[in-house]
Amino acid sequence: MKAVKWYAPRDMRLVEIPIPTPKPEEALIRIESTGVCGSDMHYYVDGRIGKTIMTEPLILGHEYAGIVEAVGPEADSTLIGKRVAVEPGIPCLRCEYCLKGHYNVCTSLQFPGGPPNDGALCEYIAVHAAFCFPVPDAITPAEAAMIEPLAVALHTIELAHLKPGETVAILGLGPIGLLTAQVAKVAGAKQVIGTDLLEYRVAGAAKYGVDSAVNVSDADTVDAVMEATAGRGVDVAIDCARSTDTPALACRVARPAGRCVLTGISGEEYGQFPVDIARRKELTVTWCRRFRFNFPTAIDLVATGRVDVKSLITHSFPLEKALDAFELVSHAADGVLKASVDQ
Ligand SMILES: [Zn+2]
Ligand SMILES: [Zn+2]
Repeated sequence: MKAVKWYAPRDMRLVEIPIPTPKPEEALIRIESTGVCGSDMHYYVDGRIGKTIMTEPLILGHEYAGIVEAVGPEADSTLIGKRVAVEPGIPCLRCEYCLKGHYNVCTSLQFPGGPPNDGALCEYIAVHAAFCFPVPDAITPAEAAMIEPLAVALHTIELAHLKPGETVAILGLGPIGLLTAQVAKVAGAKQVIGTDLLEYRVAGAAKYGVDSAVNVSDADTVDAVMEATAGRGVDVAIDCARSTDTPALACRVARPAGRCVLTGISGEEYGQFPVDIARRKELTVTWCRRFRFNFPTAIDLVATGRVDVKSLITHSFPLEKALDAFELVSHAADGVLKASVDQ
C-alpha cells in the first residue's frame, strides 16, 4: 500500500509498505480521510514535541476515519463495512489509570503518528476494534476525521466545568479553538471572546460562536479580554494555541477564582507560568490531554447539526500530495483552517 513517511523536517516521501494484518482484537480500516493537526506541525517542522523526538522515518497522522474491511477473531464483526471514526490513542486497559477511566493518560498508551508508532497517512491501518466508532451515513469521511479534534474540544469544556451563562476566553482560533467555541455555546456560555494572531481566523470566528474576536498581532490580549468583560476577566480561560505565551495569558485573563484549561501544545518541555498571578487569584488550572469517552457525544453533535465541522475543512489533498497539505498548514496559507488528506 501507499504511505507517506516523514524522514526529516519538511521532508515527507511517498513509499510502498505492506498492508497490516489485524491482530485478534483489531479491525483493518481502509482509510478515507486523515486531518492535518497542529500537533503534527511540531513533528513536521521541528521533529519533536518536548522530549518526544522523531529519530526514525515515521508515518504521521492521527485524525482519521475509514471503512472497516476486516476484523480479527476477537473483534466485533458487525463493524465490517461500516465507516468509523477512530480514537487514535490505544491504551493498555490494564494499568491503574486505565482501570480508573483515565485511559488518556495511560503510561503505556500507543499513539499513532507519534514516535515510535506509525500513523494514518496511508491506505490501511489496523487498530483495536473497541476504539472504532461507527458514524451515520450522512457524515462524510472528512467530517468523520474531525470527530477526533471535536473530542478534544468536548474534553476541554468538560474540564472547564463550564456553567450556563458564564464567560469564556479562547486563545487561539484554529480548528481546536473554533470547535471549543462551538462546544462552549452548546454548553451554555453567555459570551465567548476569541483571540488569534491571524486576521483571517479572527474575521471568520463569528460563525463558530465567537461573540467578539480580537486580532492580537496588534493588540494586547489581556487588555482586549478585560475590555470585553468590563474589567472583570472571564470565568473560564482556555488556551487553544500552539504558543509558549498563551498558558500565562490564560491565567491573566481569568477572573479571580476562575478556571483555566490549557489544551494547546506549546511544544516546550518547560514553559513560563505566572505562579504569583495564579496564586493571588486562586485559579484552578487544568491541563487537557486529548480526550476520554468523548467520541459518542462528538459524533452525536455533528450528526444532529449542533456543531459545524464541515466548514472548518477548508482544503483537501490526495495522499500523494500530503506534503502540500503539511506545507499549507505550516505556513497558515490561503486561509487554511483544517486541511484533510482524502483517498
Ligand atoms: Zn490532533
Ligand atoms: Zn493503561
